[in-house]
Amino acid sequence: MTSAPNSNDPEFMHELDRMRPPEEARAIIDRQITRVAPEQVPLAEAAWRILAQDLIASEDHPPFPASTMDGYAVHADDASPWREVIGEQHAGNVLDIEITDGYTVKIMTGAPVPRGANAVVPVEATEIAEDHVIIHKEDVRTGENIRPIGSDVRKGDLVLGKGTILGPAETGLVANMGVNPVTVSRRPKVSVLSTGDELVEPGETLGPGQIRDSNRFSLCAALEAEGCAITFAGKAPDERPQLEAFLRERIAADDVVITSGGVSMGELDLVKAILFDSPAITLHFRRLYLKPGKPLNFATCGAVLIFGLPGNPVSSLVTFEVLIRPALRQMTGACEVDRPNVPVMLEHEVQASDRVEYQRGIVTVNADGRLVARNTGQQQSSRLASFVGTNALLMIPPRETTYAAGETVQAMMLGAPFAQERMVGGSVSRQNRKKTPGLS
Ligand code: AMP
Ligand code: MG
Repeated sequence: MTSAPNSNDPEFMHELDRMRPPEEARAIIDRQITRVAPEQVPLAEAAWRILAQDLIASEDHPPFPASTMDGYAVHADDASPWREVIGEQHAGNVLDIEITDGYTVKIMTGAPVPRGANAVVPVEATEIAEDHVIIHKEDVRTGENIRPIGSDVRKGDLVLGKGTILGPAETGLVANMGVNPVTVSRRPKVSVLSTGDELVEPGETLGPGQIRDSNRFSLCAALEAEGCAITFAGKAPDERPQLEAFLRERIAADDVVITSGGVSMGELDLVKAILFDSPAITLHFRRLYLKPGKPLNFATCGAVLIFGLPGNPVSSLVTFEVLIRPALRQMTGACEVDRPNVPVMLEHEVQASDRVEYQRGIVTVNADGRLVARNTGQQQSSRLASFVGTNALLMIPPRETTYAAGETVQAMMLGAPFAQERMVGGSVSRQNRKKTPGLS
């Protein structure tokens, strides 16, 4: 849909306002995504970034046969009843010693195994007799307690592929391979603006009809978890020139521009109006077949993605999860784009809606090892507390009848399932626990 917006064309307007199932909205957004460029960063600053190069081992690891125990280096076929200790091999240097029959070297974990030795006998399996050590041949097997060259990483192996998230083990492996700096995807530049005449800062006292801006803070927290370079753009009143100036400025600077509020059906829903009729902006859709989050506007200006999120705090966070987070991950080339979807058994009745509803859920492993789920009580889109203590969005397809306890639905896991006997810290979960039959 790249033609200029035209509110006189009923077919165009119908298509623009058609409620898109989340998968269709995802596909439209996917087609607009441009990968961010790679950049080099010092390894010490690379944790949790997305690797933008394949890392192939240029050397073997370990680079020498290394002892895995503190003990004595011997030749396994040596039948001598006792051996003379001719040196101590520590980690970090190489003694110029060759082991022959009747001799041994005391060796530490991680130290190079001397020439002539092909086994390490652990200290515990030896006896010391004056300056000799007694080792029983039948206790020694060739190669035991030695890590051969390249047994951890073999030269030429693809150790970490492009798109890998550099968690603790991955970052350690990059260091182990001697790569520093490392090439990662640039952080997506994202700005967040809250819109609405009613909004005041968290530190301010509320006047009549006012509420505090929470969306900017919750969205920035969500963006931080995705490793974005965030511009905390502030809040704007429902005034067209200010909103237009903001959008112009941020579109020139960022990869993604997020606004909240101003996309519903009211006269002062100006974000919606600006995205519709700015010549430089292409509006792709503005309604989702999703609860909460129906009035989401998605537009682009060149390669810049613009998300006009609904103002209700839960709607903005749910749509962030469903559409923006995957888009950000694709921009960085991350291998893992989607949250895992798993079947869960409902612990209580759930009212169905006329749209796919993403209820905030608590997924637990029950005594039989099955995943069971309950929601967090009242699910209205203004109730941000319904997100507290959740680890999943329960995807409830629309239907005429209520979902019964015991029915299975899909859950988008936002975190790991909770253990059954988890201490419930959040007041929300506790409140819901009391209401849920069968829970102690
Ligand atoms: P709107 O999408 O502008 O019609 O706003 C929908 C609802 O969300 C209204 O009740 C707003 O007051 C509320 N809202 C809008 N923006 C925010 C915000 N940044 N923080 C908290 N609530 C908001
Ligand atoms: Mg508003």
